[in-house]
Amino acid sequence: MLENKTAVVALGGNAITRAGEEDTIYRQFANTRKSLDGIVELVRHSYNLVVTHGNGPQVGNALLRSELARGKAPILPLGVLVADTEGGMGYMIEQSLQNRLLAENINRPVVTIITQMLCDEKDPATHNPTKYIGQFYTEEEAARYAEERGWQMKTDADRGWRRVVPSPIPYKAVESETIKTLVEQGTIVIAGGGGGIPIYIDEKGNYEGIDAVIDKDLGSAVIAEDIGAGILLILTDIDKVAINYGKPDEKELDQVSLSEIKAYHQQGHFPPGSMGPKIEAAIKFLQSGGDIVAITSLDNALKVLRGEAGTRIVPD
Ligand code: ADP
Ligand code: MG
Repeated sequence: MLENKTAVVALGGNAITRAGEEDTIYRQFANTRKSLDGIVELVRHSYNLVVTHGNGPQVGNALLRSELARGKAPILPLGVLVADTEGGMGYMIEQSLQNRLLAENINRPVVTIITQMLCDEKDPATHNPTKYIGQFYTEEEAARYAEERGWQMKTDADRGWRRVVPSPIPYKAVESETIKTLVEQGTIVIAGGGGGIPIYIDEKGNYEGIDAVIDKDLGSAVIAEDIGAGILLILTDIDKVAINYGKPDEKELDQVSLSEIKAYHQQGHFPPGSMGPKIEAAIKFLQSGGDIVAITSLDNALKVLRGEAGTRIVPD
């Protein structure tokens, strides 16, 4: 059984805004509510929780909105838009969770913390566009927007074309101490939304924003490590991680060791921008002393920790 019951639970942005669904705030609220079933189950079983979440579709839409309002309202840099989505999505998750806990007579405070993530400004990843944001487009649309708007576009698995932006690698959350204190007291903390706001320390020693979007899986691993969590639980839109994903010889993974997953990663089974960052987050967290990384779909949160569903990655 797992002794350290502090878990960082990462909710996939793509699981909250589902591909092919009508994209309205009502939908997003409804999906947010649905995405909380697993989390509520963990609360019932007395886990201490940090909830992190992606913002790929949402921050892409926020950027599009800002660009379409060019000349009428000030353009907002990506860093500020990440902060906006941390606030907006944090509010939706916070209120939905509060309502659920109230309905079940569970007395646990919930709070959202806008989180800044320290990154290395000189790291090439800080400037290399790898992170998918916003909606899916056809190949023709992608070519047109690349031409007309200067967007960088890439295919996202078999799901279509998407815009890509740089995705720096975070190494520490500025608000970690506060998150840790609250979590130890039993507060459910929503933090590291959208991976957290990428920042760096400038020559004068001040924090300064970076216009990029951190992958939420890497941000989640940083928070998990900073607060000494035992569990990193990544909830997404697939039940299990696979090798040879999407190929005829695809094989789903139940439980694998750190060194096995590292070997699979080196063989190229986990593409950047989707499964890659989850596996990198898993490796990073286990190497820093984490007990388990579990990757599965939203409904299987408790089951995966019991070994009854999903993929579990454990130390050697
Ligand atoms: P999230 O919003 O939860 O971070 P992502 O889209 O970033 O979701 O990552 C999940 C997706 O990764 C899955 O929907 C699947 O299409 C893709 N994927 C890529 N490689 C693999 C793999 N080896 N095993 C499972 N899923 C994979
Ligand atoms: Mg992702």
